[in-house]
Amino acid sequence: MNSLTIPFLGITYTRRQLVMMLVIFASYVAMAQVGRILFTAPAVIQPAAGVALAGLVLGGLALWPAVLAATIMNGLLGTAPLLVMVGGIVGHTLHPVIGAWFLRSMGFDPVFRRVRDTLTFIFVALFSSMIVPTIGMLGIYLQNELVAAYQFRSTWLSWWSGIMIADLVLAIAIVRYCSKIDYSRTPREIGELILAFMAIGGLSYAISWTDLAKASSGVLLLFYLLPFIWFSLRLGNRFTFLAFLLSTAILLTGVLYSGIPSDQATSTRIITTELFMATLAVIFFLFTAVVEERKRANKALAAQLLRVESLLEETKRQDRAKTDFISVFAHELRNPLAPIVTSIELLKLKHGAHPDIAPIIETVQDRTRTIVRLLDDLLDVSRIERQRFPLRRADYDLRESIRNVTNANQSLAQKHGLTLFLSVPESAVMVHADPLRIEQMIGNLLMNAIKYTDSGGTISLSLETAGTDAILRVRDTGIGIAPEVLSRIFVPFAGLGVEHRQKSIKEGIGIGLWLTHNLAKIHGGTIEVHSEGKGRGSEFTVRLPRLSQTPIIPNEIPAMDSLQQSQTVRVLIVDDNEAAANGLATLLRHVGNEVETAYLGADVADTVRTFNPAVIVLDIGLPDMTGYDVAEQLRTSGFKGRIIALTGYGQDEDKKKAEAAGFDHHLTKPVGLADLQAVLMPQTA
Ligand code: ADP
Repeated sequence: MNSLTIPFLGITYTRRQLVMMLVIFASYVAMAQVGRILFTAPAVIQPAAGVALAGLVLGGLALWPAVLAATIMNGLLGTAPLLVMVGGIVGHTLHPVIGAWFLRSMGFDPVFRRVRDTLTFIFVALFSSMIVPTIGMLGIYLQNELVAAYQFRSTWLSWWSGIMIADLVLAIAIVRYCSKIDYSRTPREIGELILAFMAIGGLSYAISWTDLAKASSGVLLLFYLLPFIWFSLRLGNRFTFLAFLLSTAILLTGVLYSGIPSDQATSTRIITTELFMATLAVIFFLFTAVVEERKRANKALAAQLLRVESLLEETKRQDRAKTDFISVFAHELRNPLAPIVTSIELLKLKHGAHPDIAPIIETVQDRTRTIVRLLDDLLDVSRIERQRFPLRRADYDLRESIRNVTNANQSLAQKHGLTLFLSVPESAVMVHADPLRIEQMIGNLLMNAIKYTDSGGTISLSLETAGTDAILRVRDTGIGIAPEVLSRIFVPFAGLGVEHRQKSIKEGIGIGLWLTHNLAKIHGGTIEVHSEGKGRGSEFTVRLPRLSQTPIIPNEIPAMDSLQQSQTVRVLIVDDNEAAANGLATLLRHVGNEVETAYLGADVADTVRTFNPAVIVLDIGLPDMTGYDVAEQLRTSGFKGRIIALTGYGQDEDKKKAEAAGFDHHLTKPVGLADLQAVLMPQTA
C-alpha cells in the first residue's frame, strides 16, 4: 500500500504522510496525557500543542486530520463536560493549522536561516497559541462553569502561557532538529557542546531543584544568562533551541517536584517560570538569529573573496600564458628572418650599385629592419611583464645617447620636412644606465615626434639637469594629444593615433610609449607627457637619476666605416637551418672569407679537423645536441679559435650560459653583416 484516500475528505495520503500522521496522533495523545498529569489548576503545561504545531509545520497542512483525531481521542480520554471538550477539540486543532498555515504563507524556512524566520515563528508562538484558551474559554462559558471575571482572566492567561511556551520551546526545537542539515563536528566542537549543555543543565537544576537561587538573592539568575549567550554566539540556533527546551523542562519539573518550600502557589510559580522562559527565549532566539545571519554573511563574503582570488589567479595565469606566447612567437619569427636578412645584405653587396635594383633592396631592407625592431619590442614586452629585464648599466654621458639617436634619425626627419633642434649642456651629464636601452627610449620618443608631426613642423630635443635629475625633453609641433587620451597614453596596445600618422611611417603597434615608460621606471626615472590639446604639439619629459662625480671619458673607439674586410678569416657556420647557414656562408664568402658549413653538432669535430676554422658561428638549438655541448667539446679537444653563439633568444641567461660553455660572443638572430664582421675582426683591445 503506497497511498490511501480518506473517505469523506477525499484526500489521498502517501505512505510517508500516513506514517507521519500516526506519529503525530500517538505523540499528541501521549503528550496530552503528560500534560494532564502535570496539570496544576489553573496553570497548564501542554507539550501536546507544541507537538501538533511542529507536526503540521514539518509534514504539511494536509496532515490536519491526524491532529483532529488526536484531540478527539484526548477529549474522550478526559472528563470534561461536552461543550468544554468540544471547545478543546476545536481550539487545539485550529491552533496548529492556523500556525502552520501562517508560517507557510510567510515562506518560513525550518532551518531558520534568516532573522525573519525566527521572527515569524515567535509571532506564531505568541499569537496562534491564543486560539486554544479563547475557544476553550468560550466552551467553559457556554457550559456555565466559570463566570467570575478574575477566574476567567487568570485561567485564560495560564492556559495561553502553557500553550505558548510549548510552541516557543518545544515546537521550535522539534522543527529545527528534524530539519537539520548534515555536517560533521570536530571532537573539540563536541566537547564544547557537552560543556555548554552541562552548564545550562547544571544551572537550571541549581535554580529550580535547590534553594541556591533564593540563598544567592537572585544572583544565580544573572549567571543563568551566560550559557545562553554562549549558545547564541557559538553553537547555532539548533542547540540554542534544544538548550531552552532542556532548561524549561528542568525548571518546570523542579517547580512541581523539587519540594522546595515557597511562599507562592505552585500554579503561580509555573506561570511565572513559563513567562520568564518565554521572555528569555524571545530575546535569545532573536539574538542567535542575528548572530547566525552575520556568520552566514561573513561566510558568503569569504566564499566570494575566494572566488575573486581564484579568478585573479586564473587571469594571472592567462596573462602569463599570453606573455609566453608573445615571447615564443617573436622568437619563432626571428628564425625565418635570419636568412632573409643575410640574403638582403648579399643582394646589396652584389647589386647595390644597380640604379633599378638599389631602391628595391633599400625598401626591402628598411621594411625588414622594421619587422626586426617590432619583434624586439614584443620580446621586450614579455621580458618586462615577466620582470626579467636585464640591464647592462654603465656610468656614461647621457649626451652621447642623444647625439646617437639624433644622428640616426636626422635624415628621416629631413625626409618628412621636419626641422630637428638639439640642445645639450656643455659638460657631461653622467648617468648609471644601460646606454642601449636609453637610446631605445629616446629613439621611441623621437620616432613618435616624427610620426605625429606634419611636414614643416619642428622637433626639439633638449637635455638639462636639475638637482640630482637629468631631464630630457622631446617636444614637437605635431598633432598633439587630446586631454582624455593623455591619462592612458602609457597603456600598452592603446593604438590611439594610428589614423593620424605620417602616411609613410606605418610601423608601431602601440607599445612604444609603454616600453619607454617601463624603461624609465626600471632605470629609477619617470616619464611625463604634456600637450595643450589636439593640433597643439606634445612634449614628453623623462627624468633620470644623475651621477654627480666627474666623468671618466673613455678613449674614442674608431668607427668602423667600411664593411669591407682586409683579412681573410676561415669561418665554419653550424646551423640546422640550411637556408640560413648557406645564406650566411655566401655573404661571408662574398666579403672575402673562406667559409664552410655544417648542419649537425656531430659533424662539427670532423669539419674542424679538416677545415681548421679560425671562427665558428654556432647555432644553439641543433637537432642532435645543443650548441653549448658542441662548444664545450670543442674547448676540451683544444680548439683555440673564436666561437660565436647564434640564437633566437637574446635573454641574459642565454648569454651567461654561452659564456660558461666557452663561447666568445653571443649574437641574436637575425644577424646583419655589420654585427657579424665586428666579431669576426681580430680583437683590437
Ligand atoms: P604607436 O605609435 O605604435 O601607436 P606608441 O606607444 O609609441 O605607439 O604611442 C601610443 C600613442 O600615443 C600613439 O598611437 C599616438 O596616438 C600617441 N602619441 C605618441 N607620441 C605622440 C606625439 N609625439 N604626438 C602625438 N601623439 C603621440
